[in-house]
Amino acid sequence: MDKYNLVDDPPPPYGAVPTANVPPPIGLAGIQVRPIVNFGPINQHCVCPNCHADIMTTVTIRPNFRTHALAAFLCIFCCPCMCVPYLVDSCQNIDHHCPSCNAYLGTYS
Ligand SMILES: [Zn+2]
Repeated sequence: MDKYNLVDDPPPPYGAVPTANVPPPIGLAGIQVRPIVNFGPINQHCVCPNCHADIMTTVTIRPNFRTHALAAFLCIFCCPCMCVPYLVDSCQNIDHHCPSCNAYLGTYS
């Protein structure tokens, strides 16, 4: 005879699970979930999560750490070329904003 009949016998109960130390679940009420949009280097069509308008984003180009580091590198080894990273858009961050409410939407870097 089998000592354990897997079909008829329920598994032995586990020890009581302590519930006092379990943190309460984090509620999602009140948290506005923004859709994840991967922005590109040019203006992009999307719905603004702030004003919910159907918009074409406006872009602003600003230098980032990589721009300054590349300019410093070029200053040391090729001084006349040090301004090139500030003239090339692909060396800088491109911020997308809503034209209606001017909310920041994302960055392409
Ligand atoms: Zn907006």
